[in-house]
Amino acid sequence: MAVQPPPADQRIVIENAAIATVDATDTEYARGHVVIKGNLIESVGDGPAPQWLDNVVRRINAEGHLVTPGLVNTHHHFYQWITRGLAQDNILFDWLVALYPTWARIDDQLVHAATLGSAAALLKSGCTTASDHHYVFPKGRGDILGASIEAVQSLGLRFTALRGSMDRSKKDGGLPPDHAVESTEEILIASEAAVDRWHDASFGSMLHVAIAPCSPFSVSTELLREAAVLARRKGVRLHTHGSETAEEEQFCKELFGMGPTDYFESTGWLGEDVWMAHCVHMNDSDIAKFAETGTGVAHCPSSNARLAAGIARVPAMLAAGVPVGLGVDGTASNESGELGTELRNALLINRLHGRPDALTGRGALRLGTMGGARVLGRQDEIGSIEVGKLADLALWKVDGIMHSSIADPVAALTMGALPPLTALFVNGNAVVERDTLTTVNEDQIALTCARAARELAARD
Ligand SMILES: [Zn+2]
Repeated sequence: MAVQPPPADQRIVIENAAIATVDATDTEYARGHVVIKGNLIESVGDGPAPQWLDNVVRRINAEGHLVTPGLVNTHHHFYQWITRGLAQDNILFDWLVALYPTWARIDDQLVHAATLGSAAALLKSGCTTASDHHYVFPKGRGDILGASIEAVQSLGLRFTALRGSMDRSKKDGGLPPDHAVESTEEILIASEAAVDRWHDASFGSMLHVAIAPCSPFSVSTELLREAAVLARRKGVRLHTHGSETAEEEQFCKELFGMGPTDYFESTGWLGEDVWMAHCVHMNDSDIAKFAETGTGVAHCPSSNARLAAGIARVPAMLAAGVPVGLGVDGTASNESGELGTELRNALLINRLHGRPDALTGRGALRLGTMGGARVLGRQDEIGSIEVGKLADLALWKVDGIMHSSIADPVAALTMGALPPLTALFVNGNAVVERDTLTTVNEDQIALTCARAARELAARD
């Protein structure tokens, strides 16, 4: 069952906390308050909350805590939770070829289980809004997208479900096996149906749908073109993988006579309504095109490291004005599945460009919050702690043994170990308390996921 929003007149008061609002001027309070009313932020500021407030159902003394906006995950493949730890030492193309046959045996029940695992890991690491790029739809295996949406809603995570797809298999020069893809026509019909059935564009929506052909080496040029037309007709966003590896760049040059960004441009895939995962192999001209068009990037540092893909040029993208958010990527290439730890990984990996200030702690926090909100087109609703925005908040405990000797709480979060999560609010509901989900029994999820992984491995 979907988690329901709290009563509109109910208040929750959080006091005595350090607060990083991540608003336009990076306002911080050393000892401040946040008031949640219903599913919205009613006030945020210095010192204690106003005393006259009525209907306060909960007052949290957040002494020793840092309050931040909930983190926003811009790229993931939830179904991969049950195919972790496989193809451990491969680059992307070999890793994909090794895993496609297993992935092609999934069904709605297995995806439901895997989604519980992936969404739980996100929530438990401070994530309040996530997108999930699902692109494997074997025939006759049930309502896979519906199963993933139901699982996410039972945990109370704000969600962008991506109707992904593949229609370029081996016989057409692509990477996936022939049996793992759908026809172009089937994909376009199913993508439109998914938008009609689930996309809720209202303020505060818990469920968006976007259209997301998988990658240049697994979808046809026609599908890219038609998907862009469809998304714009329906008023939804577009997502895909782009410029992830040197091999992909080579593939595009051989097949299309140009690099990935020019290819995307030629198919209508640059624009404010588009974001792409990875964007590791981008030259100055590619970055300029993304900046000019407002095309967003989902930066996935751990996955890029796991697959030895390279280091995205995030500092150059930010300097040019490209919208950049953080992504876990699928958990078959980032087994941790945590978004909170990506703050630190992004900071460290971008410093390998050779500059100690390439990404600051506050810069990493901005990527993981407002950056992601902008990439998902939700910057007016989430991503910062501001009056009138949705009450998606993380309360990080930074006075324990791992953090108490760090004076700057933002440094504790972005440079230290991931702090315990005393509470995580999504839409005004505490869906995590003391590092534990409040909505679904965690032991049950663990058992369900273990069974699903074993069942998938045994299928042939
Ligand atoms: Zn991916």
